[in-house]
Amino acid sequence: MKIDPAIKTLVGDVDFDPTELQRRYDRERDIRLHPKRNKQFIEVTAEFSHYVDDPYVEPAPTRDPITDEIDILIIGGGFGGVLAGARFRQAGFDNIRIVEKGGDFGGTWYWNRYPGAFCDTESYVYFPMLEDVGYVPKQKYSPGYEIREHIHRIAKTYDLYSNACLQTAVTEVRFDSSAQQWIVSTNRGDALRANFVVIANGPLDRPKLPGIPGINEFKGHTFHTSRWDYGYTGGDEDGNLVGLADKRVGVIGTGATAIQCIPHLGASAKQLYVFQRTPAAVDVRANRPTDPEWESSLASGWHSERIENFNRVVTGIPQEVDMVSDGFTAVGRLLDPTASWAAALIGRDLTEEEGEYINEILDDKKMNEIRARIDEVVEDKATAEALKPWHRRWCKRPLFSDDYLPTFNRSNVTLVDTGGRGVERFTNHAAIVDGQSYELDCLIFATGFEVGTALTRRTGFDIVGRDGLKLSDHWSNGMRTFHGLHAHGFPNCVFMGFGQNASATNFVFILDEQSKHVAYTVKEARARGSTVVEASEKAVADYVAEVNPLAFSMNKFWVECTPSYFNGEGTPDDPNGFFANVHPAGTVGFYDMLREWREQGELSGLELS
Ligand code: NDP
Repeated sequence: MKIDPAIKTLVGDVDFDPTELQRRYDRERDIRLHPKRNKQFIEVTAEFSHYVDDPYVEPAPTRDPITDEIDILIIGGGFGGVLAGARFRQAGFDNIRIVEKGGDFGGTWYWNRYPGAFCDTESYVYFPMLEDVGYVPKQKYSPGYEIREHIHRIAKTYDLYSNACLQTAVTEVRFDSSAQQWIVSTNRGDALRANFVVIANGPLDRPKLPGIPGINEFKGHTFHTSRWDYGYTGGDEDGNLVGLADKRVGVIGTGATAIQCIPHLGASAKQLYVFQRTPAAVDVRANRPTDPEWESSLASGWHSERIENFNRVVTGIPQEVDMVSDGFTAVGRLLDPTASWAAALIGRDLTEEEGEYINEILDDKKMNEIRARIDEVVEDKATAEALKPWHRRWCKRPLFSDDYLPTFNRSNVTLVDTGGRGVERFTNHAAIVDGQSYELDCLIFATGFEVGTALTRRTGFDIVGRDGLKLSDHWSNGMRTFHGLHAHGFPNCVFMGFGQNASATNFVFILDEQSKHVAYTVKEARARGSTVVEASEKAVADYVAEVNPLAFSMNKFWVECTPSYFNGEGTPDDPNGFFANVHPAGTVGFYDMLREWREQGELSGLELS
């Protein structure tokens, strides 16, 4: 391709061969394409069900089943559920109940308490409702416990504890047509009647285990990172895992979770083996405390202004200033196939080829930088080489840490690179790789969460709508919604999350926007004398066509990517995949669209009765 000199100036020197690099990426991807794709993992049921027991609370004491009537019932007490509760309260609703299977609110931040858990999205944009509750996070990137406390702060401010059912798992949600109400059954024998239900149970909730032969033969201590066993390891979320001082520990996984807990395991264990299948692409973190001067300078409205700026920068909309200015804002733009930000700088529309060229070269440069940093930090040359990732930046969740790479300079830490194939098998006391046995006292699974598996398998319950229609059947070939929120046949029920919605670097932003939108919708419908809100069949059909399922997940980028849950482990055409249902408008366009829909005030697409 002949490159316009303006574009050459924009991308800078290219002192490598992009074609050769892509060939290497393709080879590395092919090695990692597991024959079973997304079916390679083990479900945490039957003999594996103890992996999801709650280690953070005593088992729930027995209580009498509850059968009362609630106006707004919310399933899930993570950010989604708590924000929905808060926004419904702000809209004037009194009778609200959250049902949550954990021992407290927090969702992902309740379960994921492993040492070193931090959020990669800047705290000043990730934390919602900062001005509503009068809080400013203590650092640019916050530890999990500060985020958890913030969720509790919102729940207390909006009185969401008083009526909550904690340690209560939903088993079925069924519409009772005669009463025009939902009946929510739980594992505590409850049959809760609700006028309106909000399903807010999160996209990465169900832990998964690697399908490694012999996994149930291993007799040492094991757990999944989302159920950290501090009773065994000692210490807390800040580390200091004194119980591991005489233990040989193995970790499976090198994803976002693993790279945060590995430095603490390396600092405390007698011996740590990191079993690597795909090397992690880890960029600089550079966390820092909140500047008190900056904090005291914040004027009313600062928070939404910063969030909006972040959303615009990461979706490639040119801004005068990048307020967050970090690793995410730097790489967010790489996903924009038209490189609209570059077009704005150059002053003309780019051809598709030019857009792809810019994104590819800047991605290559970023990844070269990440690989060069490994050579700078890791002393042993062979280990440094094995730690280098060979894929494009967004194929895996971008990672940031200043502690992960130096951990491999410790004499008690060994990287066991499995050449992309994973651990061969387990015996009752060891992991086997290339015929070599690694004896272990403890094995920790940092292997992530189910994506794209059957809905009921992930949630633990089905939703049975009008005329006995099961959601699991209704969506078996992909989601069918209006705005990602409402489904025909499921009146007075909304779904929060990514599905048929905008994808965003900041998932909490999505949840807050959805909460505001849904609270508005129900309030507005009631103001018109309607108690039932349901998406019309036509609105759903039109919307599904507009979303154009698979358009995003099937773009060349994801198809060529090394496998991860982002591309269904190499099946980007999976209609239930993580990015299979992303609305083409992008975060900013999508929420502008919802805002305009509210401003029109017609509730169009919804049937009210
Ligand atoms: P991931 O799915 O990202 O990572 C799972 C890891 O397990 C991968 O390294 C994977 O290797 C490995 N694995 C799976 N099966 C095997 C096997 N058979 N043999 C060897 N290795 C195996 O899960 P995480 O829990 O790390 O992260 C999930 C998501 O949670 C993140 O993407 C992010 O969205 C969120 N998160 C955010 C954090 C933050 O903000 N800082 C922190 C933690 C999580 P391979 O790559 O080869 O498949």
